[in-house]
Amino acid sequence: MNGGALAAGGVLTIDLAAIVANWRLLQTRVAPAECAAVVKADAYGLGVAQVAPALYRAGCRTFFVATVDEGITLRRVLGPPLAAPTHPTDAATDAATIYLLSSWIVGSEDDILAHRLQPVLNSLGDIDAWSAAAGRVGRRLPAAIQLDTGMSRLGLPPEELATVADSSDRLRGVRPTAIVSHLACADEPAHPLNASQLIHFREALSRLPPARTSFANSAGIFLGPAYHGHLVRPGIALYGGAPRPDQPNPMRPVVRLDGRILQVREIDEGTTVGYGAIHQSAGRERIATVAVGYADGLLRSLGNRGTGYVGDTPVPLVGRVSMDLITFNVSELPEAQVRPGTFIELLGPHASVDAMAHDAGTIAYEILTALGRRYHRIYIASDQ
Ligand SMILES: *Cc1c(COP(=O)(O)O)cnc(C)c1O
Repeated sequence: MNGGALAAGGVLTIDLAAIVANWRLLQTRVAPAECAAVVKADAYGLGVAQVAPALYRAGCRTFFVATVDEGITLRRVLGPPLAAPTHPTDAATDAATIYLLSSWIVGSEDDILAHRLQPVLNSLGDIDAWSAAAGRVGRRLPAAIQLDTGMSRLGLPPEELATVADSSDRLRGVRPTAIVSHLACADEPAHPLNASQLIHFREALSRLPPARTSFANSAGIFLGPAYHGHLVRPGIALYGGAPRPDQPNPMRPVVRLDGRILQVREIDEGTTVGYGAIHQSAGRERIATVAVGYADGLLRSLGNRGTGYVGDTPVPLVGRVSMDLITFNVSELPEAQVRPGTFIELLGPHASVDAMAHDAGTIAYEILTALGRRYHRIYIASDQ
């Protein structure tokens, strides 16, 4: 994939022990509810093949991905059971449950069954397709059912819920293992939609057969126990993102990204830097060119806005972000500290994912899922 740490332009270090510690913190916080892990989009860009087994070893038994392909990959990563269990219920107790949040079901039924995945049924069409598959295999099939309580994105809208509630026959092929809904504004605790969605969710639950409930993402967990239900679904908080933008981040940082300095030059007052000449030096400046660019997921909106660190000293990103390169004003630092071959911290203990997201005009989710494929990746093992 790349030439290894010696030659890499960027080194991405992912702390699996921190991910596990974050999961444990949330599991403790929500007990007796169960804490699942959302590992869609390759575990938010951090590598599902490393992240999911670490969480499984720590005791996590329920995982959420988006698509059928992600579910198949995750089942392979976590290992069997691929064979049908001898007991007619779900699976052996040590087997992970894998839910597909937003998969297209029609045509994928055999793949979903063969890999013992559970779809989240988001519409009457999904319910009917899954029931038809149940008819073909001659047993009720486990699945989650999602209700739209105010996000207008996925899940049964109120009129489809009414259809299901009024005709229990409609669910005859489905064994609901969780009733799910998703909060639109959980990261804004004072937003009235939170309480309104909770009311709609509870009302809907009273009209459906009893099942476990799952409502909260990372931010939802911090809205309090009323939002926890039986199964919470954090993603970003596991990966170190702040679950509550208005409060100090209780999660351990997970990601460190160091960019290698290729060249350092002194420029005279009035000299411009990079494409479009959007930075012009105010005096004599020392400029360090670093081998990371937007092709590596360093968003172009960080031009003239980002901040790196050399030790404890912040260094401003100046000029545009190029495909493979960025430039920093390192004039504040002694020459010996910014030599070609050494590294500038782009993410890490000083430069949080949330701070970079703020500078880039986006959210931590986009920073993580954009992380590129050219980095040399190092995984810090979890200790169990
Ligand atoms: C992505 C996702 C989550 C996880 O959300 P975070 O904000 O990352 O904790 C939970 N539920 C659903 C339905 C999602 O799509």
